[in-house]
Amino acid sequence: MRIDIITIFPEYFSPLELSLIGKARASGLLDIRLHDLRSWTHDRHNTVDDTPYGGGPGMVMKPEPWGEALDAVTGGGEEGATPRLIVPAPSGLPFTQQRADRLAAEPWLVFACGRYEGIDSRVAEDAAGRMPVEHLSIGDYVLAGGESATLVMVETVSRLLPGVLGNAESAVQDSFATGAMAHLLEGPVYTKPPVWRDREVPPVLLSGNHGAVDRWRRDQALRATARNRPELLDRFTDDDLDRRDQEV
Ligand code: SAM
Repeated sequence: MRIDIITIFPEYFSPLELSLIGKARASGLLDIRLHDLRSWTHDRHNTVDDTPYGGGPGMVMKPEPWGEALDAVTGGGEEGATPRLIVPAPSGLPFTQQRADRLAAEPWLVFACGRYEGIDSRVAEDAAGRMPVEHLSIGDYVLAGGESATLVMVETVSRLLPGVLGNAESAVQDSFATGAMAHLLEGPVYTKPPVWRDREVPPVLLSGNHGAVDRWRRDQALRATARNRPELLDRFTDDDLDRRDQEV
């Protein structure tokens, strides 16, 4: 997968050199390219913002550098290739695991990191004439810029790419994963030693009985979800629940 990130803070993305994503980049599974928006400015101060029309506090990112940046970055793909443009925004659609699954199937994503009060709205309108555009929010709160939201989305999508996780099964068992874990939070996890500070690992996990372990994990997931995110349980259909689920 190719990912381009346009930002006024390319250095914000140094974590993408580490761990799973760093390895995926080194092995060629992931091609991440960083672009400094200011390289598409033409004034002495490399200005990227201006006062908002209609008045009010704060500044808005100017359309000209964004237009030039997107033309340059998205025009340079393989013959006929079109990226999907992601614009992080608190007012966007919620970024969920399901959306991450869908984005992981795309060959090419471009992230446009806004700052200040956001990017002049004509930039996304103009881009939408040439490529699919999605405004996505990572949660109901306001960050100072799109960089940290982009880090969250890039990490979530990248670990779903085939070959990125050491054991592909681990993504299947995660909270929110499609399949058995849809609409569920993962329950507690344990490792050695079996007793630590007088606290024992639940005996079923040491039993070697895989059926019983699966049942225990599902019960714990249902309990964690009921405790922390009860509204997720409303999304279950009767077909999603088995007889034992109804008893938990
Ligand atoms: N005035 C905007 C509003 O109220 O919707 C907030 C602008 S925010 C200070 C600056 C930038 O941070 C946004 O353009 C966006 O790129 C990013 N951002 C802030 N919160 C976000 C969130 N919850 N999800 C995704 N991006 C966010």
